[in-house]
Amino acid sequence: MSDVTPLLALNWKMNKTPSEARAWATELAGTFTGQGAELAVMAPAIDLPGVAEALRGSRVAYGAQDVSAHASGAYTGEISAAMLLDVGASYAIVGHSERRAYHAETDEKVAAKTRAALQAGLVPIVCVGEELPVREAGEHVAFTLNSLRGSLEGVDVRDARALVIAYEPVWAIGTGKTATADDAEEMASAIRGELRRSLGDVADRVRVLYGGSVKPANIAEICGKANVNGALVGGASLELDSVLGMAGAL
Ligand code: PGA
Repeated sequence: MSDVTPLLALNWKMNKTPSEARAWATELAGTFTGQGAELAVMAPAIDLPGVAEALRGSRVAYGAQDVSAHASGAYTGEISAAMLLDVGASYAIVGHSERRAYHAETDEKVAAKTRAALQAGLVPIVCVGEELPVREAGEHVAFTLNSLRGSLEGVDVRDARALVIAYEPVWAIGTGKTATADDAEEMASAIRGELRRSLGDVADRVRVLYGGSVKPANIAEICGKANVNGALVGGASLELDSVLGMAGAL
């Protein structure tokens, strides 16, 4: 996978007000030199216009943490792919485990969002991953691939080149418990195999990320694995020093 540029996606979750986000992004734009990895700030939607202004002319991309499955209309509170594209966003996280858990997002709903993003020209970062009991039962690969199939239902193969998949074992998110690099590779390789079966050769262009307690100290080992093309980072994405450390290690 050496010809695929790794992606470091920063999932701020519900942190940073618009003014904090703008100040942070201004500092990042002044220090990030684009060392080999692509960097994307996944900010709360209300932060995006300020982040866009701060990052203009820099090598840092940005995106949202969710996107509507609908193009426009009577969907109070939702934000469409076209709105995100209008402020220059390139990415949207789709199906994060916190949205699955707290907003009842099923694979079916995630697939509708994935299709809406791709059709509009926004790159979805589609999240999948198992909870601890599933792993303890040894069913993590079957479970995650099944969720992946459901989350990509109806995706047009012609749009698939733009896809990003994030494997995020739920038990490793925000807990300090990281999957081992071998665990990450086992799943990333299984995901790649599934994508090859469903999408063909384009699977080799799809970036498969790992997420779950990634930090400067462990990113190089995890992302050094053959099928892991970067990371989706929560907690360690909030401080500039740790972001620069992770980008430098990729
Ligand atoms: P974490 O979160 O890095 O804080 O574990 C990752 C994520 O939820 O995307």
